[in-house]
Amino acid sequence: MALIVHKYGGTSMGSPDRIKNVAKRVAKWARAGHQMVVVPSAMSGETNRLLGLAKELAPAKESADYMRELDMLAATGEQASSALLAIALQAEGMGSISYAGWQVPIRTDSAFTKARIESIEGDKVRADLEAGKVVIITGFQGVDEESNITTLGRGGSDTSAVAVAAALKASECLIYTDVDGVYTTDPRVVQEARRLKTVCFEEMLEMASLGSKVLQIRSVEFAGKYKVPLRVLSSFTPWDIDIKEEAKSGTLITFEEDTQMEQAVVSGIAFNRDEAKISIIGVPDKPGIAYQILGAVAQGNIEVDMIIQNIGKDGRTDFSFTLHRNDHARALDLLKTKVLPTLGSAEVVGDTKICKVSIVGIGMRSHVGIASKMFGTLSEEGINIQMISTSEIKTSVVIDEKYMELAVRALHKAFDLDQVQA
Ligand code: ADP
Ligand code: ASP
Ligand code: MG
Repeated sequence: MALIVHKYGGTSMGSPDRIKNVAKRVAKWARAGHQMVVVPSAMSGETNRLLGLAKELAPAKESADYMRELDMLAATGEQASSALLAIALQAEGMGSISYAGWQVPIRTDSAFTKARIESIEGDKVRADLEAGKVVIITGFQGVDEESNITTLGRGGSDTSAVAVAAALKASECLIYTDVDGVYTTDPRVVQEARRLKTVCFEEMLEMASLGSKVLQIRSVEFAGKYKVPLRVLSSFTPWDIDIKEEAKSGTLITFEEDTQMEQAVVSGIAFNRDEAKISIIGVPDKPGIAYQILGAVAQGNIEVDMIIQNIGKDGRTDFSFTLHRNDHARALDLLKTKVLPTLGSAEVVGDTKICKVSIVGIGMRSHVGIASKMFGTLSEEGINIQMISTSEIKTSVVIDEKYMELAVRALHKAFDLDQVQA
């Protein structure tokens, strides 16, 4: 008998029929003798619907009061789906109880809309499990020191599930979703994408941080920190498939690099359309300029991703950086009003029609020429590279958004990812 955490995403919880299916699957695992904790997302579309309602009443604001209410509102999506799942399980003859994050409690900091989990109290959950109940814990949310409801950022139910698994020392955390594992790239964009049987933790961390939304990055960080065995698998298989077969399906996130030996140098391709670029043209080429620009951006609580400063000519240079698209307008405004007046004749231009495409693989550590192969492939397709950044196991480029699919497909082929054996 093991303690297992299941997480079901929005599509998996998307209708009463699907919830019924989830209940049957969970009941099967419980009847096989496991102690079951389930972390559901809100029904698909619900979080967007709720946040849309708020926007109808007032445009997005950075104020803490507004963000607090957004969390109060968005958290209801998971509260509803959790209660519905408990009802469905009870209808299956399976004892079940659902808890909102604050009832567990899952304690977080007070960063509304992007809170971080600080601790999870496991006593109440353990008592229910001992009493033979399936325990359902809302994904995506927690409670801060002042009893405010907080949420963990979009896609945050993954993180709730892994954190709950870590706190309860679960044997495994199974992330059930609408694809049957982690693929070489998003299978909805590249048809030839292949499922990976295993992916190592470091690669998964890079893929998640570079835009593969199959797992929220913090969930991967938690899995690494607390060594939680983590598997991504489909909730769309028949609920009554053999449990041993099901337990081995999907993709396992491994902590051993050895298992990757037979795999390709590049394991996956990630892409991200959520970024924008800002360039400041003709800034004085002198010490302190980067600080002047990025210091102001940081003070506006805006995170920056890639940065490029060119070699100056005639005492002037260009300075570009990328940031989240949602912050683009605010950053432009901040630079125009606070920084440009101190920079002489410099001008600032923004571009929201960019995307970042990245190749990821621990094999890149021991192989040379991988980045140049990437640049060569993009050049053959006539795609201009605007920015480049590299780390030990990834190379990312910024390109025009309209070439994104073409770039991902060409790279997928060039690195033989359609040949990877599942
Ligand atoms: P859930 O609602 O279950 O949390 P998400 O939509 O958050 O599901 O994540 C699953 C989606 O992630 C898939 O439908 C797929 O389109 C997308 N995705 C992006 N990159 C990958 C990848 N490398 N492998 C698998 N799925 C990916
Ligand atoms: N319901 C939340 C969202 O849509 C959290 C999640 O699904 O993981 O982002
Ligand atoms: Mg998700």
